[in-house]
Amino acid sequence: MAVERTLSIIKPDAVAKNVIGQIYTRFESNGLKIVAAKMAQLSQAEAEGFYAVHKERPFFKALVEFMISGPVMIQALEGENAVLKNRELMGATNPKDAAPGTIRADFAESIDANAVHGSDSAENAAIEIAYFFGK
Ligand code: UDP
Repeated sequence: MAVERTLSIIKPDAVAKNVIGQIYTRFESNGLKIVAAKMAQLSQAEAEGFYAVHKERPFFKALVEFMISGPVMIQALEGENAVLKNRELMGATNPKDAAPGTIRADFAESIDANAVHGSDSAENAAIEIAYFFGK
């Protein structure tokens, strides 16, 4: 299996709920190492740039507003199959559909405020890690 990296964001709802540590424990106890991390208040331009792929979607404006509504915790995770592993730990985009025991099932309120972001491919992970951490 390949050791790879993925980009994770703990979104404003989960930071406000004070569960950064609980989410980090899930990463660490499932073989994902935090290799870079920073807390940030995203600007509108940063959030729009990050989610540019969704800019034609009806939820784009609300998503950007949500992502700048408070601080986020951004981290690069490293481990075997890190992209897929993180997606498994996160659960489905809509917490109503997320499997029991996943981060979104346990900490997310709704599809708009769904606790975490995780890259969906190794290719996007490289782009997203560079977006926040440079090379
Ligand atoms: N989103 C939303 N409404 C929707 C679909 C998505 O607010 O109907 C938001 C949600 O926060 C999601 C993000 O847009 O996490 C990106 O959507 P994507 O389909 O890439 O889901 P993810 O990869 O985060 O599971």
